Amino acid sequence: MRIFISADMEGATGVCHRDHLMAGGQDYEKARHWLTSDVNASIEGALSAGASEFLVADGHGTMRNILLDELPTYARLLTGPAQPRQRPLCQLGALAPDSFEAAFLIGYHARAGTPGGLLAHTWVGMLVHEIRLNGRPASEAWLNAAILGHYGIPVLMASGADDFCRQAREDFGPDLELAEVKKTLGPTAVVTLSLEEAQGVIRDAAARAIEKGGRPLVIEPPIEIEVDFHRDEMRAMAAEVGGEPVDRRGLRYTGGDVIDAVEQAWRGLAHATREDSIWMK
Ligand SMILES: [Zn+2]
Repeated sequence: MRIFISADMEGATGVCHRDHLMAGGQDYEKARHWLTSDVNASIEGALSAGASEFLVADGHGTMRNILLDELPTYARLLTGPAQPRQRPLCQLGALAPDSFEAAFLIGYHARAGTPGGLLAHTWVGMLVHEIRLNGRPASEAWLNAAILGHYGIPVLMASGADDFCRQAREDFGPDLELAEVKKTLGPTAVVTLSLEEAQGVIRDAAARAIEKGGRPLVIEPPIEIEVDFHRDEMRAMAAEVGGEPVDRRGLRYTGGDVIDAVEQAWRGLAHATREDSIWMK
């Protein structure tokens, strides 16, 4: 059984602050270890339940956070910036029909606009006020589950803080296995489990998830992704490469399927950063 693991960083054990999220920040190097520890715990749990192959896709910031030295020998790592030319699906990649039997989302966070949410945002915090997929406000977890679902891959387990887990429970329903590794006190403060206790929580959730199985998230076409920007000039920049302006600050991307719509939206957002953000290099 082959497992695709998408790893973000905001929801990793111990992470609470922007400093943890970018190279040069205080304790960023430690946070990379915490994230890798969470990923490894999910691999251990899945292994114990019969999974055998793992592709770990680094999906945060520069997308070069996970420590290769700490991954087990049988895991592969997808790493490198999400420039649309090379990673058109942003955090994901290397997907094809029947390429994996299941997916985990490790270290995920609540969507943009979540009141009091820990480091809450969707894709590009400095640009995006809200993203909707077929009218429904979408988190990165929901968008990625829809992409994976297009390829027939179910998301079986996710980990993060309690605010993320509550939101994922609402979005995904009762079947998703959730590993809560910290409690959110506000946008930059948490009560976190120790690394060791979090490893146990994630390992157990991953094993249960593999044993239980689940169904892919299928969003029926036509697909519409609407991105609301914080400011009009941000929308204007994104609109240079596509999208239909709607309302005051929105762009609408219509796609024949979810992959088409996501690729358009990601191209627009990446363009609006002017590709000079440090995490795009
Ligand atoms: Zn992130």
